[in-house]
Amino acid sequence: MSENKVDAVVIGAGPVGLACALEIQRQGLTVAVVDKGALVNSIVGYPTQMEFFSTPELLEIGGYPFPMASYKPHREDALDYYQRVAATEKLNLRLYEKVIGLRGQVGDFVVETTKGEIAARTVVVATGFFDVPNKMGIPGEDLPHVNHYYKEPYAHANQDVVVVGAKNSSAKAALALTRAGARVTLVVRGPAVADTVKYWIRPDLINRIAEGRITAYFNTSIDAITHHTVAVTTPEGPRILAADYVYALTGYQPDYSLLIDALALPLDENDAAKPPIFDTTTHETARPGVYVAGTVCGGLATSRWFIENGRHHAQLIAAALALKTQPQIA
Ligand SMILES: Cc1cc2nc3c(=O)[nH]c(=O)nc-3n(C[C@H](O)[C@H](O)[C@H](O)COP(=O)(O)OP(=O)(O)OC[C@H]3O[C@@H](n4cnc5c(N)ncnc54)[C@H](O)[C@@H]3O)c2cc1C
Repeated sequence: MSENKVDAVVIGAGPVGLACALEIQRQGLTVAVVDKGALVNSIVGYPTQMEFFSTPELLEIGGYPFPMASYKPHREDALDYYQRVAATEKLNLRLYEKVIGLRGQVGDFVVETTKGEIAARTVVVATGFFDVPNKMGIPGEDLPHVNHYYKEPYAHANQDVVVVGAKNSSAKAALALTRAGARVTLVVRGPAVADTVKYWIRPDLINRIAEGRITAYFNTSIDAITHHTVAVTTPEGPRILAADYVYALTGYQPDYSLLIDALALPLDENDAAKPPIFDTTTHETARPGVYVAGTVCGGLATSRWFIENGRHHAQLIAAALALKTQPQIA
C-alpha cells in the first residue's frame, strides 16, 4: 500500500465535490480534491453578478451558514462562500489538474491526471455538466464570435447580438444585453419562451418582446452562421439576421468521454438521459469503489440534480466510504 494513498479522490471541486470531500474528511478519512480548473470552476464561468435562483441556505454545505443581507446570492457571494468553506476545512485541493484516466479496482485505484498519478482507495466523481456545450451542428458554429458561454453584456452596446434559446440562461442574457444597449434578436426552436423560465424573469422577457425592444423568432431553426449574419428558417420562410455576436445558450451535457472512456462507468441505457448506473442509497456506481455525486448523476438530464438537492449526496457517500474503507480493503 502506497504511503501517499488517500482514502478518496474527489474529481471536481464544485459545490457538491466540496461537500463530499468535507463529509468524507469528517469520517476521519483522507481526501484529495482534483479539479481541471479553478476552485468551483463552473461557478467561476457563470455570468458576472449572476443571481442564484436558490436562497442561500439551500446552497450551504457542511453545515456552514451562508449569511446574506439580500434575498438571493450572486455568483461572487457563492464563490466567496465555497472558498471559505474549503479553506476552513483545510481541504487538500489539487487545482488545474485534469483527471484523464482511472486504473485498478476498489482499494487500489490509480487516478491518472495531467500532472501525474494519485493512489486512492475510492473515487468520487462530481464533475457536473458545464464543460461540454450542446452543439447546434451548423456551419459557422466554431467562428470566434460564437460563444456557448455568456459572461456579461458590456462589450455589446450598439451591436447586433443573436441569442439562441429561450430558457433561463438565454432569457437572462437577452434582457441584460438589451439593457446594456445591444440590439438583441432571440431565436427559439420552440413556440414560446419556455414555461420553465423562472416566474420573475419570464414576464420581463415577454414584455420586452411585446414592446419591440427584443426581436424574437419562435419555431425557428438556425441554418448557418457567417461573420456578420445568422441564416434562419422561420415559419414565414428563410431570414438573414444581422449578428456581430452570437450567444448559443443551448445547454450543456456531462463529459461522456470522461465517464465512459476515462473512468469506464457503465451507463443506464434504459434511461433516456443516460446517467451512470449507481445505487441510490450509496451512490456507488457499477464500477465498485467509484461513486457519483451532484449534477453528473442525472446524465443528460442536467436539471435533475443541482446544488440544492445534489449537496445531500455527500452524506450518503461519506457514510458508504466509511464502511468501504474498513479493514477489509485497508
Ligand atoms: C447560470 C446557472 C445558474 C444556476 N443557479 C442555480 C441555483 O440557483 N441553485 C442551484 O441549486 N443550482 C443552480 N445551478 C445549477 C448548479 O450550479 C449546478 O447544478 C452545480 O454547479 C452542480 O454542482 P456539481 O458540484 O455537481 O458540479 P459543478 O459545479 O459543475 O462542478 C464540477 C467540477 O468538476 C470539474 N471537472 C470536470 N471534469 C473534470 C476532470 N476531467 N478532471 C478534474 N475536474 C473536472 C469542473 O472543472 C468543475 O469544477 C445553476 C446553473 C447555472 C448554469
